[in-house]
Amino acid sequence: MWNMGKWMKINLPKDMVELIDRYLNTDMAKERGFVSRTDVVVTATRMLLERDGMYKPRPRLEHLNTYEDHVKMVDNEMNRIASVYFKNGQAYCDLCDSNECLHIDYSYTIKDVLDALERHGYSIPKPKLKFKI
Ligand SMILES: [Zn+2]
Repeated sequence: MWNMGKWMKINLPKDMVELIDRYLNTDMAKERGFVSRTDVVVTATRMLLERDGMYKPRPRLEHLNTYEDHVKMVDNEMNRIASVYFKNGQAYCDLCDSNECLHIDYSYTIKDVLDALERHGYSIPKPKLKFKI
């Protein structure tokens, strides 16, 4: 995503900066978590770049491949690959070393996985999405 360690300065018209300052004092800005002019300008610029197709935010999780007994995905936040294994009626995530995590929840949203589990007679849990993906 963005390299937040490196910054460059740009200039804005004084009137616009004053309007940003007024906006920062509104409840709407506070609800959005804006605390600085930079927060507002970065968000507004990102929205424009997204709208015009110049920037596509990467999703947290991306499906890589489905195998006979496991599924691989990239966790873009952790910059790691997670493998979720299905064995003896249980799911296991090697990245979290756990039977319950967002990677397992995410795996139940992948059609290939659901099809494979159904073929192997697994009862597919209702989507609960305890973890925010
Ligand atoms: Zn996990």
